[in-house]
Amino acid sequence: MTGTTPDTDTLRQAVEPARASYEELKAKGRKLDLTRGKPCVEQLDLSETMLALPGVGEHTSPDAGDLRNYGGAPKGLLALREMFSPLLQIPVEQLVARDNSSLSLMHQCLVTSFFHAPSGAPSWQGQTVKFLAPSPGYDRHFTASLDLGIELVTVPMGELGPDMDVVESLVKDDPSIKGIWCVPKYSNPTGLTYSDEVVQRLAAMPTAAEDFRIYWDNAYAIHHLRSVEDELADILVACAEAGHPDRAFVFASTSKVSLAGAGVAFFGSSPANVEWFLKHDGMRSIGPDKLNHQRHIAFFKDTEGVLAHMAKHRDILEPKFDAVLRHLEKGLGDLGIARWTDPNGGYFVSLDVVPGTAKRVVALAKEAGVALTPRVRPSPAVRTRTTRTSASPPPSPPWTSSRRRWRCSPRPSSSPPPSSCWT
Ligand code: PLP
Repeated sequence: MTGTTPDTDTLRQAVEPARASYEELKAKGRKLDLTRGKPCVEQLDLSETMLALPGVGEHTSPDAGDLRNYGGAPKGLLALREMFSPLLQIPVEQLVARDNSSLSLMHQCLVTSFFHAPSGAPSWQGQTVKFLAPSPGYDRHFTASLDLGIELVTVPMGELGPDMDVVESLVKDDPSIKGIWCVPKYSNPTGLTYSDEVVQRLAAMPTAAEDFRIYWDNAYAIHHLRSVEDELADILVACAEAGHPDRAFVFASTSKVSLAGAGVAFFGSSPANVEWFLKHDGMRSIGPDKLNHQRHIAFFKDTEGVLAHMAKHRDILEPKFDAVLRHLEKGLGDLGIARWTDPNGGYFVSLDVVPGTAKRVVALAKEAGVALTPRVRPSPAVRTRTTRTSASPPPSPPWTSSRRRWRCSPRPSSSPPPSSCWT
């Protein structure tokens, strides 16, 4: 976006019309909840016919026999794993299909590690356990960790992924740092996709903890919004090539593909980690809901079917994103007091406002009937470290690089730079 830097008079002149349109909006009594990436009814309707699947008599599969019974297909139904393997960049043999929630699989991996750490490392019991938390990030990663007594170490999030100078300097000496949370594609909440260099550095960096794991939550792997689609480097290949084949745990689900909370969740990793996962998962459950797997196979048929379905989601979502961006542009475009993301996929537009005003923006929006998600940071009780190596330059603010598409209203010279908070 271009434009001349407005002066204070321009801002003053904008105040009254803004107040008037705010009062107008309030008077309309709207009730809009934009706080969560929750599919709308039209999106859910796309999968309505699933409710009748797999259908009476459709209860057998070549690899698991009678799906109504226990047993068979310990990794989940093969046809489903074959369907999602290319979409998730996970070889079929290393892909496990489970029940309805990827978040529960992440939680399960954390909990299991307290008793049986991966790579045969000592269990986490009695140890201080820390995870790196790129911020802003997904609040449920943070709350799940804290709930289990895992300390979070905040790492700044740049435009191309977590600040890797900070990450590398933290993990190399501290064996209590056991992992890092990553939403690598159309990240929640900023919409960015990690660059190839970030993926490569995560895979290659030396870590003091032998059982260090990247919790690679690829929740938005196929959730494109535009004809230009972001590409994410293959983390499992990158880790294997860097000599750390067991470093990444990959998670995904169909929560925002088929039905939210009633889809299929996936775990993918190295053969050794898959063995570790299955061994301990087998203590928790006799097996996944194979009929739900069958339902998804019957509905999507193949990988192309999944992609065609995602194009329908895009048809519903793209105009909504366009509307949000159009209104941001119309209301704030020339004022130099905000900037926002224009992601190629995912569920979020991230808005940066003048430092110190984010809470007020959220409160005013709420009064006008629009619920926004406030800035999410690992809780204040959480240890925050942003140590940098003396040789490394300070991180670029997310809006300075050309790769990421930020729309910025030009800032008046008198106003301070926006914080990296988001609303
Ligand atoms: N991971 C991310 C990044 C999410 O945004 C969400 C839901 O919004 C989830 C995981 C939850 O996924 P699931 O329904 O598979 O537990």
